[in-house]
Order: sequence, then C-alpha cells, then structure tokens
Amino acid sequence: MLFGFTKDMGIDLGTANTLVYVQDKGIVLNEPSVIACENYSKKIIAVGFPAKEMLGKAPDTISVVRPLQDGVISDFDMTMEMLRAFINKALIKSKTKANKFRVVVGVPTGITEVEKRAVEEVARAMGAKEVYILEEPMAAAIGSGLKVDDPMGCMVVDIGGGTTDIAIIALGGIVASTSIRHAGDKFNDAIVAYMRKTYSLLIGERTAEDLKLNIGCAMVEHGEDGREVLDTREARGRDLVTGLPKVIQVTSKDMYFALKESVDLVVDGIKATLEKAPPEIAADITINGLVLSGGGGMIKNLDKLIEEQTGMKVEVAENAFEAVALGTGISLKNTEALKRYAAANIHHKYK
Ligand code: ADP
Ligand code: MG
Repeated sequence: MLFGFTKDMGIDLGTANTLVYVQDKGIVLNEPSVIACENYSKKIIAVGFPAKEMLGKAPDTISVVRPLQDGVISDFDMTMEMLRAFINKALIKSKTKANKFRVVVGVPTGITEVEKRAVEEVARAMGAKEVYILEEPMAAAIGSGLKVDDPMGCMVVDIGGGTTDIAIIALGGIVASTSIRHAGDKFNDAIVAYMRKTYSLLIGERTAEDLKLNIGCAMVEHGEDGREVLDTREARGRDLVTGLPKVIQVTSKDMYFALKESVDLVVDGIKATLEKAPPEIAADITINGLVLSGGGGMIKNLDKLIEEQTGMKVEVAENAFEAVALGTGISLKNTEALKRYAAANIHHKYK
C-alpha cells in the first residue's frame, strides 16, 4: 500500500543511468539503465544496480540488456519495463501516492515520436495525470542553472553514456543543436583499444571505465616546476602474447592519449553547433560560454581543453551527473514554460 501525498516527478531516462526526482524530496533514485529478464518466461529478474552486476556474466537463459544503448531505444519492451519498475520504486521510496501526479521525462534526443508516446503511456499507466517529454539538452541546461528563457543565448554540452548532446538555447527553445553518438561508452571502447595496441593487454569494459573514472583526463596536468603530474592506477587484463592474466600500471598520460580522438570529436561538435547558430546568438555564447553536464562532462580537464580549443569560457555544471534530473524537477514549477520546452522538441530537428 502506498501512502502519503501526491508529488510531482521528474525522470532522467538516460542511456547509462536513470534518475528520478520527486518534488520536495530531491533525487530519490539513481540507478544504471539496465534490466535483466529470464528468456524462457520473459520474467523480469533484476532492474538497476543488481542488473548491472549481471552484465557480461549472464548464462544463456538470462538476457541482461541496456535497453537505451547508443542513445536510441534499442529494446522497446525492456525500456518500458525498466521505466515502470523505476517509477514504482521511486513512488515507494518517496511514499508518494500513485495517482494524479505530474511527470516530466527527459529522454535522449535520438528517440522517435512513437517512442516518446510510449514513454508517456507508461507514465500514465503508473498513475500520472500529465506527462511532458523534454529532450535531455533542454533539461540539462535548466538543471545546470542556465537561463533558458532569456533572449541571450546559452550553450550546454551534455556528455552521457550513448550520446553527446550539444545545444544552443534562447527564449525557451533550441536554436541550434548537434547530437553525436559518441560519449562515455565510446570513451571506454577507446581505452580498451589503446591498452590492446600499446600494452598488448586485453581489458574488459568495466576495467576501462574504472580507469576513465579514476585517472581519465583530457589534458595532462603540470606542476609549478613545469613537470608533468601523473596519476596512476592498476589495470588487470589478459596478456595477448602469453594469454595469461597480467597487471599493468597505467598513468593519466595513457588516458590522455586513449581519449584524445574522442575528446576531439566533442570539440568538433561544439564548433559545428556554433557555426549553425545565428551570428547574434553565437556572439552571446562568446560572452556566456558553455556548460558541461552529464557523467562524461566530468572528465578531468575537459573544461580546460575546450576553453583552449574554442577560446570560450567553460564551466562544469555544479551537479553535472544530476543536471538532467534536476532540470526535469525544476521545470515542473512553471507549467506554462514547461509546455513551451516540450513543444520545442517537435520544432527542431537533429542532423
Ligand atoms: P546518460 O545520460 O546517457 O545516462 P550519464 O550522464 O549518466 O549518461 O553519464 C554516464 C557516463 O558518464 C558513463 O559513460 C560513465 O562512465 C561516465 N562518467 C561518470 N562519472 C564520470 C567521471 N567522473 N569522469 C568521467 N566519466 C564519468
Ligand atoms: Mg543524460
């Protein structure tokens, strides 16, 4: 039995992580966008953290999927099951009544109109009376504290798991945008490829992510004496020459080399988006700079590198990882503005 008061809800349905914000409670759920089901019965056996633990380890009888991989809904049914499970968990955690609440869902920019409607239906079936769909960059901009309703343009670069979404926003709408299918997951792949090529070491995706989170960087740090300051971390994998397990000390400089091409793609995307914007707005951005959000936006020194390459001021959002979820939550406060933001989805087209 659910009890308590009805609260509005904001959901960040991300390719890597799903976050749920509940009015007056803040973020009540933050779990990997992963779901596991039994193949023969189609029964859901795990969602979120426990499902992520099963990734890469499940026997043939179990499917463990990331249903939003690559920034599109790659497994429609599983996405809906996962969303249902997360909404349910958030309702229980926040002791909210499962009826007549309003929901804003932030979705990856790659999803289709049909998929948006399906997301809406799932939320309604869970008891929502009004559902608004916001595209992630708009939600990220709001959650990063940007003044999206101002005539003065602002810019957000949201680097998630599957996509990097770059958007220039003014007057509550998206003026220019680019979505690149290259983000955190591809950064991991790049690290795997680098380790193989440089050290003949085959590492798993999780090890690659561990290296990225702990010693990943877009620029190597220098001390006051001008010498490089390097972080190190152990990487365990299989030696491709002997076939045996091996441990190697990896440095942040390795990460710099491994991530260089990926980072360059993000920078190119930023430049391309600025070129698409009307000159007055591009001029605003040179004054306002841009904000980085999403898990990938937290890569060390990525802000500095973008500043160096574009000449613009770059800031990492205070709550980069939570920006989209916070943005969905904040947007619930002003229904008129929310309708405008949701309508902005339809009027712009990603290239
Ligand atoms: P999505 O919106 O697609 O769900 P997120 O914004 O949750 O994605 O970001 C997930 C990605 O961010 C993952 O690839 C993860 O490895 C990466 N990530 C998380 N924290 C960090 C960090 N501190 N440094 C670099 N990458 C990070
Ligand atoms: Mg995201």
